[in-house]
Amino acid sequence: MRIKFWLIVIEGALLAIAAIAGVLAFQIWQNPIYSSDPKQKAGCIKTLTVGRSVEGILIEACQLNGSNPQAENTLLVVGTIHGDEPDGKLVIDELLTEPAPVNGEIWVIRDGNPDGAKLETRRNANEVDINRNFPIKWVASDPSARTYSGPSPASEPETLALMNAVELIKPTQIVVFHQPYEQIDCPPDRPKTISDRLSQLTGFKSECIPGEKSGSPTNSYTGTFTIWVNSTFPDATAVTFELGVTTTQTKIETIAKALRVLATEPSI
Ligand SMILES: [Zn+2]
Repeated sequence: MRIKFWLIVIEGALLAIAAIAGVLAFQIWQNPIYSSDPKQKAGCIKTLTVGRSVEGILIEACQLNGSNPQAENTLLVVGTIHGDEPDGKLVIDELLTEPAPVNGEIWVIRDGNPDGAKLETRRNANEVDINRNFPIKWVASDPSARTYSGPSPASEPETLALMNAVELIKPTQIVVFHQPYEQIDCPPDRPKTISDRLSQLTGFKSECIPGEKSGSPTNSYTGTFTIWVNSTFPDATAVTFELGVTTTQTKIETIAKALRVLATEPSI
């Protein structure tokens, strides 16, 4: 009697385990293990898969709820390219809490280097600095350098994902977050109007960042995302927004608000 009881218990437990495994398998089948960023997904009207990282994590662009595709401007905000500069993702999270403003269209890519974020390193899983790997003004560099530009221009899947996003979304303005210089850089090959406007709206200073800050012997940046965008798309202006070492919630909210305003203003 006692043995039978325990057999029934064990059988029941096995059935329960099988059922749970079945549900999990179904979920994984529906959403691959390297699935979408759940934080990003909540506030989106549309999600585009633009690529995958070296380790296979999806890189997705999200069109904010309430975006107006007829808006004069299309603003794309990239939370991070360097894995050890995570604070831009907090601005994206803040943006995702509200729909896009009326007459505005906002797209976000929360994380352009998810492997780097996981490893907490600047570079990707191939130890390449994505923000030196773009195919305009690309310069070969030492693989041991923290700004290693990769074996060839646009060799990295994360670089291709960001290029793909810009080609698909066709933004007129792009703001990409970095850390820690706490300033808004000048957009390469463009007047600094957008930097000055963002400065006015956020209180961050608008000032060109010399290339030597990243260890460039020529004192100029090479193969960056903003260089590639501004050289390739005459109607787009991409700018680097450097957050500080740490970012307060007040600053995050101020910057998110500023981006909403920017999205509704005439293209600059
Ligand atoms: Zn950076």
